Amino acid sequence: MQEMEAVIGLEIHVEMNTETKIFCGCRTAFGAETNTQVCPICLGLPGHKPVLNQKAVEWHAKAALALNCEIAPYVQFDRKNYFYADLPKGYQISQFFYPMGINGHVDIEVNGETRRIRIRQIHLEEDTGKLLHMGNITASPSSLVDFNRAGVPLLEIVTQPDVRNAEEARLFLQKLRTIIQYTGVSDCKMEEGSMRCDANVSVRPKGSDILGQKTELKNMNSFRAVTRGIDYEIPRQIDLVLDGEEVIPQTRHWDEAKGVTRAMRTKYLATDYRCFPDPNVPPFKNDPAWVEEIRQSLPELPDARYARLVKEDGLPPYDAEVITASKAMADFYDQTVALVKEPKTVSNWLMGEVGRCLNTAGKEIQETALTPKHLAELLGLVKKGVITGKIAKDVMDEMFRSGQDPETIVKEKGLVQIADQSELDPVIDRVIQANPKVVEDFHAGKDRALGFLVGQVMKETRGKANPQMLNELLRRKLQG
Ligand code: ADP
Ligand code: ZN
Ligand code: MG
Repeated sequence: MQEMEAVIGLEIHVEMNTETKIFCGCRTAFGAETNTQVCPICLGLPGHKPVLNQKAVEWHAKAALALNCEIAPYVQFDRKNYFYADLPKGYQISQFFYPMGINGHVDIEVNGETRRIRIRQIHLEEDTGKLLHMGNITASPSSLVDFNRAGVPLLEIVTQPDVRNAEEARLFLQKLRTIIQYTGVSDCKMEEGSMRCDANVSVRPKGSDILGQKTELKNMNSFRAVTRGIDYEIPRQIDLVLDGEEVIPQTRHWDEAKGVTRAMRTKYLATDYRCFPDPNVPPFKNDPAWVEEIRQSLPELPDARYARLVKEDGLPPYDAEVITASKAMADFYDQTVALVKEPKTVSNWLMGEVGRCLNTAGKEIQETALTPKHLAELLGLVKKGVITGKIAKDVMDEMFRSGQDPETIVKEKGLVQIADQSELDPVIDRVIQANPKVVEDFHAGKDRALGFLVGQVMKETRGKANPQMLNELLRRKLQG
């Protein structure tokens, strides 16, 4: 049987975080009451006059540079004509002929190897409104439209067909999201629709350099949906080809509930959108000095930051990867390390206890009351021996909940560790007296006996006994 391979190109839409829309002053806040963030311009009323949002253009350049694109010297906005209920003007303004970002790439690590996914282009356009389907869609179909989203600045990122499977698609999308989040251009929340992805999928005999007929998968609004959609589509196409049938060029809808892709529409001919330059939005040339300025304004990006954490801070690659996956987490790490100067300890806490608290709360670190200063103070208390590592975990829970500083928590709850022999002695004596059988076991060489006695002392001191001191004292008393 002939061995087949998949070829995948991704088209990603990212809504920008700008305060206002691309051609008017309307707000872009997510979740506002329907049709409250609209005006004659974004509703496309007759005689409206769009004015290009300078910030959106700057941020577009920022995102393009972060994705290793060149900034084209000339940019033009075109009308892409089509009819749809959520498109008030009957056309969408987009950089159809002269996109601003071209020839970029993102590198991903796949099984220890670097794979480069090339980016064909990244262009700026306006988002459409949103249809709200009401009632029983077959018995009495009715839809309402919300134009709040119409005119929100939207970046479209188009890759070359360099992706080979679902796992690579996921790694690429996650890396892309991280990079864009670092630039601050978008929060890329797939669940809120501020990042959306279509996957173009085809198959061909392995080793061939001819592209097969592709289908386009839509409606995949989570990383999981993207991987499941692709994992469904590839074998479907391979089966067709091996059976001697043809893959029909289709747009296919990913059905998350049923776990299948379904044909939405078939298109044998490329749609002709009758694009032409929008007469209301003047084209512009990019000054290389402006491009340099934008480049200088970029923050340290994930790859550079990862390299610094491994090289300068000596973090294991795994730690560096986890910490740099979110800019907020990486910033938190840097700020804490600046205070305590122990990178690995900080990383252990962020990936361990802090990570546990975040998971339980279902939050990102920037959404919590925890601060780098408080984490640094907590680590200081452990280091100075004021509290035990075990107690520190309880204090962390409390800091996370209340945002209070660790010293106050320790003081108010009486959590200072007992590292004073005269305080520990009587407790240990009591435990030894109360457990003659266990003491016998200890002398008989049973390892677990010591652990049990340590546990009993810890229980009586509510976890506050200094572990080293306790172990030493206990052993000494038992042996002599
Ligand atoms: P269309 O004209 O259908 O929009 P484009 O050439 O503009 O197609 O490409 C859109 C996306 O599809 C790009 O990401 C591109 O890499 C990808 N693509 C194009 N041809 C194929 C193919 N045969 N198989 C997989 N992906 C493809
Ligand atoms: Zn408006
Ligand atoms: Mg296209």
